[in-house]
Amino acid sequence: LSNRGTDSALRERARQVIPGGLWGHLNAARLPQGYPQFFARGEGCRLWDVDGREFVDFMCSWGPIVLGHRHPVVEEAAARQAALGDCLNGPGPVLVELAELLVQMIPHAAWCQLAKNGTDATTGCVTIARAGTGRRKVLVARGAYHGAVPWCSPSVAGVTAEDRAHLIPYGFNDPASLDTALHQAGDDLAAVIVSAFRHDYGTTLEMPDPAFAQALRDACDATGAALILDDVRAGFRLDLGGSWEPLGVRPDLAAYSKAIGNGHALAAITGVERFRHPATQVFSTGSFWCTAVPMAAALATLRELRRIDGPAKMKAMGERLRAGFDRLAARQGLAILQSGPPAMPLLQFAGDAEARLGEAFCAEALRHGAYFHPRHNMFLCCAHEAADIDAALAAAEAGFAAVAKMA
Ligand code: PMP
Repeated sequence: LSNRGTDSALRERARQVIPGGLWGHLNAARLPQGYPQFFARGEGCRLWDVDGREFVDFMCSWGPIVLGHRHPVVEEAAARQAALGDCLNGPGPVLVELAELLVQMIPHAAWCQLAKNGTDATTGCVTIARAGTGRRKVLVARGAYHGAVPWCSPSVAGVTAEDRAHLIPYGFNDPASLDTALHQAGDDLAAVIVSAFRHDYGTTLEMPDPAFAQALRDACDATGAALILDDVRAGFRLDLGGSWEPLGVRPDLAAYSKAIGNGHALAAITGVERFRHPATQVFSTGSFWCTAVPMAAALATLRELRRIDGPAKMKAMGERLRAGFDRLAARQGLAILQSGPPAMPLLQFAGDAEARLGEAFCAEALRHGAYFHPRHNMFLCCAHEAADIDAALAAAEAGFAAVAKMA
């Protein structure tokens, strides 16, 4: 097991039949040396790679795992539905139950539509906004991630200028840039899309300034454009009513996915009354968008998150992790930067723009059993208990020691 034979053998086979070994954000080539590509199983907040190494998991599948891997309540609900049928000629009754729960939980929501991926939901919001307003321009924050199709993909390979012809950039938390963008859109503004907080890859996380959030709301009210909250990453982790509820700023349309079904494939769009009719005009569908098992999983996930107050638990454990990082870094005399909400934290080292120290920290912590990330926000889940955080901090201590040797 120590030579990581299975993972490297699988990578070699994958390289032959899968371009680049793996598509997308889960490709381990983007991670520090030593990170596994293939996983054998997960349980609670723990993961095992195919070579038998165990980790306390702080990526949670990059968001979807919110209650813990293989959560018994969710898996039982999914299994019960699977025994009846999943992919039928229409949805099961569970669709209506889930839609009712979402509309009840999310204050702005008068209705919802379901899909599979976050990209389906963000793209659907933009399309519904354009259908409802009859306008074209969409304000998008520079550097923000909204999905992996031509209008928003971070790579421009295979993308035409026409795919993005009606996007206008603005800066997150930058009111002057908003004014410029609004001016540029003139009377053709369909929507402003914004993430729950600024979580661009490789940059320090930034919470929304409440005055800026309100300025976006005011701009949409003044122009009739839709305020779209991309809550795909943060949704159901920070606040069960939507991540901007604590700010008192409500969107017209919101996109969710990731955590909604604790790992089961589902996405949702919620909207205000004004966009109900436009939502019926857009042709929204997919072969698997009505499957019942992920809906049953989502219903169980959301009820459980509400029952245990999941966001409060993840916040408390995230604060414990953050306090531990501070204490351990100080002991080594290391200057660190911690950003983001405690349940979705990022740890960076001062003056480490390329994350060279961050990578060394993560690689060493991994060897000691904690799976962290040096550039992307991490994710707590409700299965993290104090003892798991403390075990991860013991691994982090080794990581900080390794960094101290480099400095
Ligand atoms: N928006 C945000 C903020 C995201 O974090 C993501 C996924 N990382 C998406 C949209 C796209 O979601 P998906 O990968 O499920 O299509």
